[in-house]
Amino acid sequence: MPIRFIRLYRLALMCMLSISLHSHAMKTDWFEAFKHTATDEQLYQFLYAMPKGGDLHNHLTGSNFVDWWFELATNEQLNGGYRYYTRTRINNCVDYATTTAVNSAYFLMFRNIQQSTYSALSRCEQSEYTALSELPAHTVQAWKNSLRLDSVNEGRNEFFYSHWQRLNDLGANPYINAEMLYRNMKAFAAEGLVYLETMEGTRFYKRKDGSLYSADEVADFYRTRLQQPDALATGVTVGMQYYLLRFIDNAEQDLEWIYRFVDKNRDLFVGLNMVGSEDIDTGYPLRFLDTLRTLRREIPTLPMSIHAGEQDKPSRNVRDTLLLGANRIGHGINLISDPDTMLLMRNSNHLIEINLISNFMLGYVDSYQQHPFPEYLRFGIPVTLTTDDRGMWDSNMTDEYFVAVK
Ligand SMILES: [Zn+2]
Repeated sequence: MPIRFIRLYRLALMCMLSISLHSHAMKTDWFEAFKHTATDEQLYQFLYAMPKGGDLHNHLTGSNFVDWWFELATNEQLNGGYRYYTRTRINNCVDYATTTAVNSAYFLMFRNIQQSTYSALSRCEQSEYTALSELPAHTVQAWKNSLRLDSVNEGRNEFFYSHWQRLNDLGANPYINAEMLYRNMKAFAAEGLVYLETMEGTRFYKRKDGSLYSADEVADFYRTRLQQPDALATGVTVGMQYYLLRFIDNAEQDLEWIYRFVDKNRDLFVGLNMVGSEDIDTGYPLRFLDTLRTLRREIPTLPMSIHAGEQDKPSRNVRDTLLLGANRIGHGINLISDPDTMLLMRNSNHLIEINLISNFMLGYVDSYQQHPFPEYLRFGIPVTLTTDDRGMWDSNMTDEYFVAVK
């Protein structure tokens, strides 16, 4: 190319760059001004109406608002005809000397069971339960509060060790889960979302008689619900991620089962995830390296989004999780304390799913000012805002954006 053309080309390129930087500045100016003059209500209204793409980090059963839980649990038209009971008192029905009683969820109030579980209990234990549909109004409110973080002394332990244990049989009803998926689609559509990626599995679902559905049967529940006219009318596309509970004894075998299942059901499942508190050391990322390498040798690549760095202490979990082959990282809070991995992720195509409200509610940051999100964003690490277990702290996608802007 002659020198003259190179000069012209450079000049044109410089003009384009300056134009694009200039117009970028122009575009952000009005929003900066709006941010500073708008009331909180105006800002919230604006963010609610703003198109927001998708929610890429969403646990299905953790995203069911407590009012929805109560309605679905007590409305037999919606829940497949299941009847539920919840523990409302302790009548000392078990022998406290036995360790099983102490280790079980026996002392957990508002633990929910279905009719078949109730029928198998002793008379004494049955007397500790009340039918959900017969709870007095003030107890209904307490029941709802038992499934969300509603007071200052509740946090990570309540969330990890009580909420899911209380849900118990309620989380094993495919009619309820399919319905809550639709409700989430509808609510997210109202907020301007067009895509939802939600984490859920297809095993351990119970029929009314207590026997288990097959994984294929449950997958079909979701397929059928997603094709119903009201679901299609939301305009929200759903992709499911199959989750692996990372710290259980047989997690490697479980990973292999899930990997093969997701591979065979790629129309419904877009990938897999690993969940569970990272404070439990047995779920460390490199535990799964050999299993994943063996599976990849045989099966075409499966996208993986994996929880990593949801900790309030430094660790190598984000880096080790990238080595597992993760395309995306869930949370990544402690990446801020790992400079090599920050440089690795800068301007990369590895996304961090940021969960501002979850991280604050579960005490991984003491205040929003402490969250590394703005640093990741402006340092050039790809980030997205997501809702995690929004039902358990009553939030939505707009709340995440509102917190981020503020
Ligand atoms: Zn999560």
